[in-house]
Amino acid sequence: MTATTDFEIHPASGPLPAAQRAAVLEDPGFGQTFTDHMVTMRWSAERGWHDGRLEPYGSFTLEPATSVFHYGQAMFEGMKAYRQHDGSITLFRPEENAARFNASARRMAMPELPPEVFVESLELLVSQDRGWVPEGAGRSLYLRPFMIATDPALGFTHPSRTFLFCVVASPATAYFGGGPPTSLTVWLSTSFTRAVRGGTGFAKTGGNYAGAFAAGLEATAHGCDQVVWLDAMEHSWVEEMGGMNLFFVFAREGARPRLMTPALTGTLLPGITRDSLLRLAPRLGYDAVEGQISIDEWREECAAGTLTEVFACGTAAVIAPVGAVRSERECWTVGDGRPGPITLRLREELLGIQHGSAPDPDGWVR
Ligand code: PMP
Repeated sequence: MTATTDFEIHPASGPLPAAQRAAVLEDPGFGQTFTDHMVTMRWSAERGWHDGRLEPYGSFTLEPATSVFHYGQAMFEGMKAYRQHDGSITLFRPEENAARFNASARRMAMPELPPEVFVESLELLVSQDRGWVPEGAGRSLYLRPFMIATDPALGFTHPSRTFLFCVVASPATAYFGGGPPTSLTVWLSTSFTRAVRGGTGFAKTGGNYAGAFAAGLEATAHGCDQVVWLDAMEHSWVEEMGGMNLFFVFAREGARPRLMTPALTGTLLPGITRDSLLRLAPRLGYDAVEGQISIDEWREECAAGTLTEVFACGTAAVIAPVGAVRSERECWTVGDGRPGPITLRLREELLGIQHGSAPDPDGWVR
């Protein structure tokens, strides 16, 4: 594995005027507007990583036979740059994204990228486009590194021998809006399956998301915001959501609250927010464990009042409370259906670390 860290710099001749950029940053939404620049780098079997460039954001020209269009050999990452109160800009645990990027690359038979080059490419783009990082808690610059197979050939006997790595950036409000979080209604998908053991569930590859759209439409048709994916064999064990991991909060009178998130079985994405909350929760006085929960237990523990809160977590959504659950057969509410106190406390604490207003004992902020 070789890499050049000498990125050639080609600044945009016509970046978006500051007044127009400020108008976008007022209410950026999610993933709709892109900054003035992007980073690209090529890989070939002969040369390894080469041709690193910072260049104006723009289109690619690719032949119709390009491998990624046919076989979907593609993967991506998602992370954010945060504006701090003093105006400086930070990344949150970028080396974790670098490690997950390489885990995805191994599963998809794609070349790994040295973690320091991955992080350098992010820093280069953020520093060039720093005027695009919005201010305010819940706002950030979303970074999307990705890699695609670029061999212009239809042969299916071997993986592509050329790849393109690229990073683009997009100013973002938290996925479900910038204000106080409102509770999600989630759909238990019992007719579709996202991932199986030995499959690609733990990798951040496009096919996992393409296969999820049909279930998303089913969820919308039933008045739900998000799909909860269940295990492939029995459709009874909870795994994760389409772009977020799940946490379950058990609270009994007089006992320490206990947070549980489904264990990493290879079929769900190892979320960096998930990992951060597993480490953060004990510092706030909660037990936090990996485990498993069936949909029957979810319903029964809610009815018994022992499962008091459920929330989803991820880079885009931060922490989003789950208020109600629906499936083909049943529906129930979690607690009183409104965001719970532990959910809100964890959200505030995590946003505080990311934006520099809370202590960062683990050195997550870079
Ligand atoms: N699960 C899936 C399927 C996802 O796409 C994401 C978003 N990356 C997550 C969970 C949450 O991961 P993270 O906390 O690293 O954003």
